[in-house]
Amino acid sequence: MRKIIVLLIGIAVTTSCQTKSVRDKDTAEIFPNSTKVTNDNFTGDVWLTMLAESDTTYNVNIGSVTFEPGARTNWHSHKGGQILLVTEGEGLYQEKGKPVEVIKKGDVIKCPPNTEHWHGATPTEAMTHIAVGTNTNVGGAVWFKPVTDQEYRSGESQ
Ligand code: MN
Repeated sequence: MRKIIVLLIGIAVTTSCQTKSVRDKDTAEIFPNSTKVTNDNFTGDVWLTMLAESDTTYNVNIGSVTFEPGARTNWHSHKGGQILLVTEGEGLYQEKGKPVEVIKKGDVIKCPPNTEHWHGATPTEAMTHIAVGTNTNVGGAVWFKPVTDQEYRSGESQ
């Protein structure tokens, strides 16, 4: 009986690893222990590895975020700004009133303070970025509405 239980646990672990395998393997090896984001500030499947919590010495927070295809943030802004370092895949970034931009591995995107925007994967490809929340002493993210499918698809021709 014990062997059967161990076997079943093995299958469960294998299954959960397969679910995570959509995440980039290299990123997952460098920054393991990602957890699925369960709050309402995102659409789709998003994984977070928190790398550095904000404190009064550095005033930054740093996390590696993986968006499965189709996943994206809600519209939001950052009181102290944010820098995105794309480490894998291809994704999308849009500031309110501007066209959707394609972003890809190696790109560095500066989101100015108090500028409404969203970021995420493309409909067909996962994207991982390291998100650096800067100047966290002046405040964090302010969250707005979800990015509608129409808004999300508006960059599709690119
Ligand atoms: Mn942002």
